[in-house]
Amino acid sequence: MKILEQTHDQFADAFLRRYGKGTHYSTPVYRHVMQTGGTGLDRLPIFSQMPELAGRLQRDLVLDAGPVVNQVEDHGVIKFVTRLADGLEIESVVIPMFRRFTLCVSSQVGCRMGCRFCRTGKMGLMRHLTTAEIVGQVFAARHRLGVDVRNVVFMGMGEPLDNLESVLPAIRVLGDQRGLDIARRHMTVSTAGLIDGIDRLARIDGAPVNLAISLNAPNDAIRSRLMPVNRAMPMADLQAALRRYPLSRKGAIFVEYVLIEGINDQQAHAQALARYLAPLNAKLNLIPYNPAPGSDLKAPSPSTYERFLGWLVAERVFVRRRGEKGGRIMAACGQLGGRECCASGTCL
Ligand code: SF4
Repeated sequence: MKILEQTHDQFADAFLRRYGKGTHYSTPVYRHVMQTGGTGLDRLPIFSQMPELAGRLQRDLVLDAGPVVNQVEDHGVIKFVTRLADGLEIESVVIPMFRRFTLCVSSQVGCRMGCRFCRTGKMGLMRHLTTAEIVGQVFAARHRLGVDVRNVVFMGMGEPLDNLESVLPAIRVLGDQRGLDIARRHMTVSTAGLIDGIDRLARIDGAPVNLAISLNAPNDAIRSRLMPVNRAMPMADLQAALRRYPLSRKGAIFVEYVLIEGINDQQAHAQALARYLAPLNAKLNLIPYNPAPGSDLKAPSPSTYERFLGWLVAERVFVRRRGEKGGRIMAACGQLGGRECCASGTCL
């Protein structure tokens, strides 16, 4: 029984079919596995009279999170590598933020979006992750690394809206209050701008999750050069999809703008960006590009960054500065995916 891909109700149904036992048994098992990591099932009081059922369950339950085979830390940011059953590896990043821990999860091995500033994009798409492999990253962070993850951002390797078949069920499993219990308002899905995917995500049952858009450009010409997805889904269509997206109470669309020296760093760019964001309830993260080895793009100088930030503030854009947490372990924006160290797209 692959528990990491199941909500409590799905697990309870499977449990009833397989063992003929109802929620009196299945609910404590689900809680125990998801909330403590699942060891010592036979010590649960409900099994005191039924040790053989506990033993059978222990053999049947598949906790296919995969082993954590590497982990590095830089200023509290932890990047860890999980080896999947087929030998491929994915990376996830724990980020301490305001006394909470956020986990940046991968949704694919590689990515087919081909964004020019991104290491993962250079890998191409190797495969989609399963629901269990996505949930498994949170499970591993909590129960293997011992980190109390309370926020999940889908900003690691891959384009989550290109793998909604696994991402939507993962959101339901992660949010199950009898399991990992991550509130929807504490989950954020980041996209390069797949409009159909945004609309599908908007229709998820229950409360909406937060949406982040990796924008990175003030106009179609620059965006299409940086992000091929923009050629098929231009900025005006994207803006319309963002306006349709249901926000939670006090919610906003998170917009990421990777500032690249000489590409998207002019005053006219800041003004065009401000006009684009004006009809949206948006919060902008301004992220200095963090070049990977071999990249032909340049990091902005501190003065370029400060100047661009000032222009945005003058245009009354709600903007947050983003440093380079994790840069030394290649866990910063666009740097997950290097075989020797890590893997991701627009990680915070
Ligand atoms: S930035 Fe995101 S969508 Fe673009 S190539 Fe990288 S992982 Fe894929």
